Amino acid sequence: MNPVGKPGKTGSLMPVEVALARLLEMAEASPIVEHEYLPLAQVEGRVLAEDLVSTLDLPPWPNSAMDGYALNLSDWAGEPLPVSQKVFAGQSPEALKPGTCARIFTGAPIPPGANCVEMQENADVQSDGSVRFVEALKIGQNIRPQGQETTVGELILPAGTRLGPIEQGLSASLGCAGLKVVRKVRVAVISTGDELVEPGQPLGPGQIYNSNRVLLCSWLLRLGCEVIDAGILPDDLATTRARLGELQNVDLILSTGGVSVGEADFLGIALREEGELALWKLAIKPGKPLTFGHFRNVPVIGLPGNPASTLVTFALLARPYLLRRQGVRDVEPLKFPVPAGFTWPVAGNRREYLRGRLEQGRATIYRNQSSGVLRSAAWADGLVEVLEGRTLNVGDEVVFIPLSDLLG
Ligand code: AMP
Ligand code: MG
Repeated sequence: MNPVGKPGKTGSLMPVEVALARLLEMAEASPIVEHEYLPLAQVEGRVLAEDLVSTLDLPPWPNSAMDGYALNLSDWAGEPLPVSQKVFAGQSPEALKPGTCARIFTGAPIPPGANCVEMQENADVQSDGSVRFVEALKIGQNIRPQGQETTVGELILPAGTRLGPIEQGLSASLGCAGLKVVRKVRVAVISTGDELVEPGQPLGPGQIYNSNRVLLCSWLLRLGCEVIDAGILPDDLATTRARLGELQNVDLILSTGGVSVGEADFLGIALREEGELALWKLAIKPGKPLTFGHFRNVPVIGLPGNPASTLVTFALLARPYLLRRQGVRDVEPLKFPVPAGFTWPVAGNRREYLRGRLEQGRATIYRNQSSGVLRSAAWADGLVEVLEGRTLNVGDEVVFIPLSDLLG
């Protein structure tokens, strides 16, 4: 492994994990407690509100894993056996007649008295219809026993599980027609800045298009949130105060921009005057400044406005916060070590989240890592974590966080 570079000065910067721990603590202090019962087809992206416990054995009865023949090994001495019944999936077989075998198909219940299934490929059907078994046989072979997957009373999915197609399928296999889920978190999205214009409008001098609004709104929908799109806030205190005041029935106000302690930090002023404000300088790049506070009683997270900063801080801080508010335990994204396909000669004092890709098993990074460059993330399929104080040679280990995991 490459020698770790001299630890950069972090000064008063807050480490990412400290900021995350504080946010999660605050999320736990105001959990969403309301539940609703939804039909199974509608629970995708939602969070399970109570433990799902099995009321069934799965499979409910022993069944065949193969198309073949069921027999009882204790009454068989090697001779061909006549076929006494045929059992398809969905049928209820009779007890196996001693000295016979049953034709059986995959998923069909094992006839009482049979203790072995031989696959049809190893069965030699004689001219009189009886079946000779050519391979050695074992008790229990090709039989899926009752309760092999699940038994009655077993905890299948704990409360706090995020529900997707697999959990829906699993719940269906247990006969659940619907599930109790946590109410959606209501998130108001605000973009701040006099320079912002919505796409579709002509750009005036000094103006740029608002990219954070649609990015965050779509992402929040993927996380199972209800989105209140609160549009663009001009850099003006009275309007900021008035607009925040209109958003009192939401669970979170999520804003971007205006948190860099610049002169146009009206969000910060409004929070200070009518709520509380913590301004964090994070040891994270992109995305140093982050605001957490309340406007009256509504929690507010203020993300930095540069689009790549918005993306990184939302992914690593706001996303887990929102999941935890819904009671999700496992809010950490998938992370795995990969060799770096790039060098990092100068150690930084902030943890870098470079927009990168896996190419031939190595992490490569986009050529322009500026916090204003959203194209870097569109090119990337993950964030490459480089710890503060580190330098890297090609082949050194870095941590890769797939965007696909963060986005869902
Ligand atoms: P601020 O934190 O308001 O100083 O913004 C930092 C940078 O991000 C500035 O260059 C802003 O123009 C830009 N920015 C802020 N909000 C947005 C947005 N919603 N879409 C695109 N760029 C933004
Ligand atoms: Mg601004």
